[in-house]
Amino acid sequence: RHPFRVTVIGSGNWGTTIAKVVAENTAQHPHLFCKQVSMWVFDEKVGDEMLTEIINTKHQNVKYLPNIDLPTNLVANPDLIDSVRDADILVFNIPHQFLGRIVDQLKGHVKPHVRAISCLKGFEVGRKGVQLLSSYITDELGIQCGALSGANLAPEVAKEHWSETTVAYQLPKDFRGEGYDVDHRVLKVLFHRPYFHVNVIDDVAGISIAGALKNVVALGCGFVEGLGWGNNAAAAIQRVGLGEIIKFGRTFFPECKVETYYQESAGVADLITTCSGGRNVKVAKMMAKTGKDAFEVERDLLNGQSAQGIITCKEVHEWLDTCEMTKEYPLFEAVYQIVYNGVPMKNLPDLIEELDSFV
Ligand code: NAD
Ligand code: 13P
Repeated sequence: RHPFRVTVIGSGNWGTTIAKVVAENTAQHPHLFCKQVSMWVFDEKVGDEMLTEIINTKHQNVKYLPNIDLPTNLVANPDLIDSVRDADILVFNIPHQFLGRIVDQLKGHVKPHVRAISCLKGFEVGRKGVQLLSSYITDELGIQCGALSGANLAPEVAKEHWSETTVAYQLPKDFRGEGYDVDHRVLKVLFHRPYFHVNVIDDVAGISIAGALKNVVALGCGFVEGLGWGNNAAAAIQRVGLGEIIKFGRTFFPECKVETYYQESAGVADLITTCSGGRNVKVAKMMAKTGKDAFEVERDLLNGQSAQGIITCKEVHEWLDTCEMTKEYPLFEAVYQIVYNGVPMKNLPDLIEELDSFV
């Protein structure tokens, strides 16, 4: 067995944070991992220099994770194919709207036994219906893919403030044996830090559904907060949201386990943190305060970062519409109508009550 070589695909706010976590661990566990970690960068100019160059000389991602020192064994690479060439483990961590294009480019360029973990939050809605992003990666690249998701606002993890996370992974049919292949122990060592506590389970669907849908709930939360309605209204949105998340999972991904939503960091804890301080809630609050649309606020507020709920609420709407089930998910539908069709956000209580399937 040779040590596993790891590549992180993505270098945004969370991409860079997870790359830091992983590089700290590969340096500490040379028997298990190659020390050097590659991080693919969608390169751009920052001032007069390319971002990749800045990361490799200053060891900071000045655009997407400023003022955080990165380990020197983390090497930025602007060439996607080159960055994955020798990798045994791929950690996908990009805004999910870019996944299709990245996966297309990777076809035929990854080693046959490469394993993957997706840190993305969102769905793929296409000819196969609604798909988990890990399943999409598996189908497109023919590689086993798990997920990492939790109550993990990147700036806090990057500052090494304590948090928990959940990694979910199922051993593939062609598992090559303990000690030779990626298993739960390898993943724990790869991601666990003193400030980042990892629980490894096998419910990939449960953690992925919770991670994707809480971004839609966070938009709803931001609307009522931005309207100045306070904590009770935000809690009401989260209550309805949690119910719709669980219902969505049970309906479309019956393999997911209900206890994941309550017991795992990727479940209710991620819903709470995202609704308190995430980018989606910030974007929605600003929409409420300024009357600007979601895309304009995202551009003005996030400096190139992405609020994934904006796209996810559309994906969810399209899928529910196909299934003629939009009425059964009143909050998800209301968020979609507010973001895309200009429905007034002050109508949220009525929209939820009118359609509420939980009363
Ligand atoms: P981000 O929101 O910081 O997005 C910026 C990144 O997108 C940059 O690396 C930029 O180069 C890249 N990008 C822009 N255009 C691109 C293109 N055309 N092709 C490819 N890349 C392009 O990204 P992030 O915060 O790292 O989020 C990645 C995923 O992690 C998302 O699904 C997000 O929901 C999830 N997540 C984020 C956080 C967080 O706190 N930031 C926490 C947990 C999970
Ligand atoms: P935002 O994308 O809303 O910042 O949420 C980050 C997140 O997923 C926290 O776990």
